[in-house]
This record gives sequence, C-alpha cells and structure tokens, in this order.
Amino acid sequence: MISPLFQQLHDGLNVKLYPVGPLQSNCTLIYDETTKEAILVDPGDDLNFILELINHYQLKVITLLHTHAHFDHIGCTKRLKEQSGSKIVMHQEEIQLYSEIEQQGAMFGMNVEGPGVVDDTITHNSTIKLVAREIMKTLHTPGHTRGGCSFYLDSFDPPLVITGDTLFRLSIGRTDLPGGDYRTIINSIKEHLFCLPDETVVLPGHGPTTTIKDEKSHNPFVKQQ
Ligand SMILES: [Zn+2]
Ligand SMILES: [Zn+2]
Repeated sequence: MISPLFQQLHDGLNVKLYPVGPLQSNCTLIYDETTKEAILVDPGDDLNFILELINHYQLKVITLLHTHAHFDHIGCTKRLKEQSGSKIVMHQEEIQLYSEIEQQGAMFGMNVEGPGVVDDTITHNSTIKLVAREIMKTLHTPGHTRGGCSFYLDSFDPPLVITGDTLFRLSIGRTDLPGGDYRTIINSIKEHLFCLPDETVVLPGHGPTTTIKDEKSHNPFVKQQ
C-alpha cells in the first residue's frame, strides 16, 4: 500500500490522507479500527486505488462526504456509491455544481463521468457521525464555491480540520470560478478557521498539511487584509 501523505490514529479512529488524480486532490479516509466503518472525504480520482484501500483495510464505506463539488474532489463519488452503497453528502449549494461535473472536467480537457444522486445535505454546524459517534463538525466556508465546507475533528489531539480548496499551506483557493468570491473566502477563513486552536492541523484540498498557527502568522493572502 502507498503510504499516506498524513496519518493520525486517535481513540480507535484512523485518519489517512492520500493525494489522487492529476490535480493531486487530497482524499481523506477516516475509519473506525474496530467496526471498520469508514467515511471518505473528497474521493476525486483514482477509483482503483481507492477501491484497493477499502479492500486492504476491509472497510465498509458509509459516507462519501465533500468539501465542495469540483470534479477533482468528487470524480469517483458516483462509482463508489454504486460499489459500496454509501451515501453522497454535501452542502445544498454544491448540488448545482455537481450536476455540471462533465462540463467542469471538459474545461480542464478531461473526460469525467456524470453525477450520482445526492442523498443528504449538510449545513453549518452539522455533525458527521461514524458508528453513532460524532467525529466532525461542519463549518460552512464559502468563497471558493458557494457551498464549500470545512470539517473540524475536534476530538483528535491535536485537532484536525479538512479545509478543501478554502485554505492551503501559504495560499487560498481560487475565487475566479463560478460561485467564487474573494471577500467571502477571506471572511470564511478568518471567521471559521482562524478561530480554531493554534495547534490544529490543516488538511487542505491540495498540497502539504499545515497548522492554523502557521497560516495565521504566514499566509500572505489573509495577513494583508
Ligand atoms: Zn475546487
Ligand atoms: Zn481542488
């Protein structure tokens, strides 16, 4: 098995981060070591690799959760739902974007399969459960897209936050695509991410991990404001 870009084990819960596809979108696998129930966040590409992972750890994927519906974060979702019977979950305001996944891919010269049916929506403060255990809180962080969300795993030590394309190490997501807005993304980061504990590890949608403390001190986009 390929080793993950990041991993943490806490209280029987495993978190592993893998970059997938040509855009190296970070896909996060979260699973309970005992029950083997799992959540996949942003299964964007490399279906066979993701299926291998599921097989290797003998997991039952319950939820396919999304920070947002750009094709590089959601490209394998339909197939994974078909294969595992898991639920597709995202913010209400991403559903339109998901319905345009083929056109999105075409803009990047890529052939992407059409969308699946969304089973559940989340909103700010929604909790995400695994085996009846609350493991993540949803933070609505629009600006890259309208329904973009981050997921805060506060029971970990240090805590983790999955930020999608809202916050990267020393950068932020682009705001020139449909639904993007510069002031909104800056507000989302300040209001919902920079208030998290300094030691929180940021798992961004692309690239290496960072911490809230480092981004508060060094992120040039948010510092300027
Ligand atoms: Zn994106
Ligand atoms: Zn992306």
